[in-house]
Amino acid sequence: QELQSRLLGRIRDVPDHPKPGVTFKDITPLLADPAAFGALTDTLAELCLRHGATKVVGLEARGFILAAPAAVRAGLGFVPVRKAGKLPGATLGQAYDLEYGSAEIEIHAEDLDPGDRVMVIDDVLATGGTAEASLSLIRRAGAGVAGVAVLMELSFLDGRQRLERSLSGAPLEVL
Ligand code: 5GP
Repeated sequence: QELQSRLLGRIRDVPDHPKPGVTFKDITPLLADPAAFGALTDTLAELCLRHGATKVVGLEARGFILAAPAAVRAGLGFVPVRKAGKLPGATLGQAYDLEYGSAEIEIHAEDLDPGDRVMVIDDVLATGGTAEASLSLIRRAGAGVAGVAVLMELSFLDGRQRLERSLSGAPLEVL
C-alpha cells in the first residue's frame, strides 16, 4: 500500500498525449527517483521469483526499462519483445489489433527454452493487446507463462478481461 502510493505518486499525467483526449501516464519522474525506481525493481524481482519465473520478458519500450533491472536483481535472463523488424535473428511474430489498424511484435524464440516459465513485464496495461500477443509468442516458442506484471492498468480499457483467456490461470500483478 505504502509502496503503491510512493510509486504512483511519481507517475505524471500528461493531458492530450500522444493525441487530443488521451491522458498519458508518464513514468519518467519515477525513473528519475532512485529510491522509487529501486523499490519498484526489488518488487518486480520478488514477484518474478514468487511466481516461479525462470526468464523475464520486457515489452518495448518502457517495459525494457523496468524488466531488465528486475531480471538482473532476480538472477534471471532477460528477453526483449520488440516491434516487428528490429530483432536481427530468426524471429517469431505475432500481429494484434489496435483501436485503428494493427501492430506486430517479435521475439527471438531461441532465447527461450522449452522448460522456461516467463514473467512478462510492462509499464502500463491499456487494452491488453500487446501483453496478449506477447503471451502467444511465449507459448508458440514452447515456453510457459509465469504471469504478467505491470506498474499500472488503465482499467477503463478492460485490458484485464482481454488478457484473462490467454493467462489461463497465471496471475496478472498490478503494483
Ligand atoms: P495495450 O496493448 O495494452 O493497449 O497498450 C499497452 C502498451 O502501450 C504498453 O506497452 C504501454 O507502454 C503503452 N501505453 C499505452 N498507454 C500508455 C500510457 O498512458 N502511458 C504509458 N507509459 N504507456 C502507455
